[in-house]
Amino acid sequence: MQWLIWIGIVAVMAVLLAKTRWGYRVWLAGVAVALGVLTAVGLLHGIGIVLVWLLYLLVAVVLLWTPFRRPWISQPVMQAIAKALPPMSDTEKAAIEAGTVGWEAELFRGRPDWSRLSAVAAPTLSDDEQAFLDGPAETLCRMLDDWDITHERNDLPPEVWDFIKSNGFFGMIIPKSYGGLEFSAYAHSQVVMKIASRSVAAAVTVMVPNSLGPAELLLAYGTEEQKSHYLPRLARGEEVPCFALTGPLAGSDASSLPDTGIVCKGSFEGRQVLGFRVNWDKRYITLGPVATLLGLAFHAHDPDHLLGEVEDLGITCALIPTGTPGIDIGRRHNPSGAAFQNGPNSGRDVFIPMAWLIGGEAQIGNGWRMLVERLSVGRGVSLPALSTGGGKLASFATGAYARVRRQFHLPIGRFEGVEEALARIGGLTYLMDGGRRLTVAALDAGERPSVITAMVKYYLTESMRQVINDAMDVHGGRGICMGPSNYLGGTYQTLPVAITVEGANILTRTLMIFGQGAIRCHPYLLDEMAAARQGDVVRFDTLLLDHVGHAVRNGARAFVYAIAGRWLAPSPASGAEAEYYRALSRFSAAFAVLADMAFLVLGGQLKRKEKLSGRFADALGYMYLCSAVLKRFADDGRPKEDLPLLHWSCRYALHRIEQALDGVLRNFPLRLPAWLARVVLFPLGRRWHGPSDRLGHQVAGLLLAPNDSRDRLTAGVFTPDDPDDPVGCLEHALKLAIQAEVVEARLRREGIRPDAQMPHDDWLQAIEKEGHIVADERKLLNDFREAAMRVIRVDDFAPATSVAEAPVAKAPAAKAPAAKAPAAKKPAAKPATKKTSAKESAKTETKRKQTTIRR
Ligand SMILES: Cc1cc2nc3c(=O)[nH]c(=O)nc-3n(C[C@H](O)[C@H](O)[C@H](O)COP(=O)(O)OP(=O)(O)OC[C@H]3O[C@@H](n4cnc5c(N)ncnc54)[C@H](O)[C@@H]3O)c2cc1C
Repeated sequence: MQWLIWIGIVAVMAVLLAKTRWGYRVWLAGVAVALGVLTAVGLLHGIGIVLVWLLYLLVAVVLLWTPFRRPWISQPVMQAIAKALPPMSDTEKAAIEAGTVGWEAELFRGRPDWSRLSAVAAPTLSDDEQAFLDGPAETLCRMLDDWDITHERNDLPPEVWDFIKSNGFFGMIIPKSYGGLEFSAYAHSQVVMKIASRSVAAAVTVMVPNSLGPAELLLAYGTEEQKSHYLPRLARGEEVPCFALTGPLAGSDASSLPDTGIVCKGSFEGRQVLGFRVNWDKRYITLGPVATLLGLAFHAHDPDHLLGEVEDLGITCALIPTGTPGIDIGRRHNPSGAAFQNGPNSGRDVFIPMAWLIGGEAQIGNGWRMLVERLSVGRGVSLPALSTGGGKLASFATGAYARVRRQFHLPIGRFEGVEEALARIGGLTYLMDGGRRLTVAALDAGERPSVITAMVKYYLTESMRQVINDAMDVHGGRGICMGPSNYLGGTYQTLPVAITVEGANILTRTLMIFGQGAIRCHPYLLDEMAAARQGDVVRFDTLLLDHVGHAVRNGARAFVYAIAGRWLAPSPASGAEAEYYRALSRFSAAFAVLADMAFLVLGGQLKRKEKLSGRFADALGYMYLCSAVLKRFADDGRPKEDLPLLHWSCRYALHRIEQALDGVLRNFPLRLPAWLARVVLFPLGRRWHGPSDRLGHQVAGLLLAPNDSRDRLTAGVFTPDDPDDPVGCLEHALKLAIQAEVVEARLRREGIRPDAQMPHDDWLQAIEKEGHIVADERKLLNDFREAAMRVIRVDDFAPATSVAEAPVAKAPAAKAPAAKAPAAKKPAAKPATKKTSAKESAKTETKRKQTTIRR
């Protein structure tokens, strides 16, 4: 009985700790009264009284007696931290301080305030933005023929370049006062997403000038003179920009770039002026080969002290017209055959006046901060839009294909194995779109959240990789055989580009997300580090006390919510989604406890424990995505039909969060703290096991037929209605398949089965004559057969024409960077694609198969 009373007391204390924000003085008073009562009624007796009261006194002395605590506890802890802190370069400091924190900080701190999430305005389009999407963006998509771009021209056609430039696609982020479109981040994202669903090359071409390009940097740091000169020209497409940061020796570690600028005097427009003599060697620069304006990052030095005492001035950014003497530009790489313009460039002793530095002389040395701050904005828009566009196209096309394509007399989408892949395609696309929308909403609200943008870059490109892989599997050979009819293979081929650029994914996950998040989102860590560095023990002591309180409350919350979250964890919604909000509240507290444990136990070593920090990143990333889909569901008006998508994506995300936290505990180098943490965080073990098969079946079902959920899921991508278009024909065939299935089911019930010996047409005529179907039904079955053949047909080429003959630029020999690569071959003659009418295809299908085998 006494034990029960003690368990009850501990439970009440844990709940109070979890749910209240009382300070330690209130707690000390409350515990003293409680212990007094327990002693008086005899629940505490013998040695127990002494031990419990001694423990209480010890805690009270530490908390209340500052003259003891400060020198004996806070001071040594502070000194140990100061010693363990790795030295921080200005570059690292700039990266850490760049941008703002937003919703991810709520999740990081262990007590998400759901009203903050609900208060984020749902992203909307202005009339102008909607008109642009329905007008020029739609027209551009209609003009794009990805096969022609990637395999015949190795470039966008001239009329597409002209259309992009003259319709302001390069000026989406430029204010109207400078002649741009001044679009919101949401509109910008919608445009990129739409184009990406048609052609990756075109999407990348539009993305670059609007993300980390000269316009973005000019807007934030340019002088008024630079803005008025360049922004209108960029908006009108009179200048094609690129930005060159990385090179052969500095890729992921871009801040170590070896490209130099030496302060000197030189001749400019007939006068001797102060400037830089710049030397560089860059590669992989998107739009570089066709750029007229080169944004360049180099390391500035002033060895002759022409500017002052300091010799090493730091990374500096300039805008250089590409016609400037000394620049070698124009050769091309071949990035996964995507055919967007990308190549190396270099400069030898190129003189640039101070006026060409972005922001002028005042911004010398601020280049890294500029890039990191602005990179976070573009990173949150472009690649997430491209990834979601890929996911939406895959959802639209794969569902339709899986209903139209039959094997073993059934649509392949009805097989459980295919259903699994379809469910992942639909569920992950829903998750991606939620993350995309919440992120652009934050950007439109003026936030510059560097941790969030790194997370959406990583988790959306990785989700796209999974979705496209699944879509390829479902399409089988139809996705593999390249040609004008293949709408998927191009995206599959160029996946690694999205994975690698704007922060390569392995590095982004294992180094950046948690590393930056820990410092930016933690309520005390950054201040504690600053106080430790300055040796300010008074400040450190206050912070430490608050930090301990924060950790204890998070521990109590994680424990209480793990046991009784269903009743005690907060949720802003009461419907089907409430359990997900509650689970997120629990995992947020558990994450905060584990993060504090890792900081305390591992300290500076954590930076090298990339496997652990990668798992922390997963937990934080999926908490963000899960809350983003909940927000999206609420913004959409909680449509009941979307519940399978919501349930699938939330259960998937919660499973990934739990798996990541469990992984941290399993692999934590010190076992005792890990074991204690497991008792607090997982007292009842793990419970989120991912979406069930039944749920997967429901999600797959949404992709296999036209419906409102599918429309909402795939909204915003280019889905032409032309039955002769490779994508357009899918919807047409899907609708016919659904109608045909009704007739076919009736025939099956009547025992009427196709006669394998007879051509399909003849068989239909025969059963019509026998009265099993009417003329309209025969036409329907015929139409479906033709439409299905159009959908499943792949391209073939005349034997003499090899796809490998398509023009490609060859890489220069490794040891001779100055030597020119062999000139790119002339575009190959248009491959003689055999275009057979669908009807003819149907009739000759068997014959073709035999021919192929013979070949
Ligand atoms: C198609 C394309 C377009 C591009 N466009 C531009 C552009 O317009 N402008 C521009 O300046 N650059 C551009 N880049 C360069 C791009 O930013 C770099 O490719 C990228 O930074 C990675 O550098 P890297 O390829 O040299 O790989 P590396 O830096 O060699 O990295 C190789 C691998 O090691 C991992 N890695 C490296 N360090 C760590 C670490 N500390 N912890 C964990 N993992 C690590 C990376 O994640 C990666 O997986 C482009 C690249 C490509 C391929």
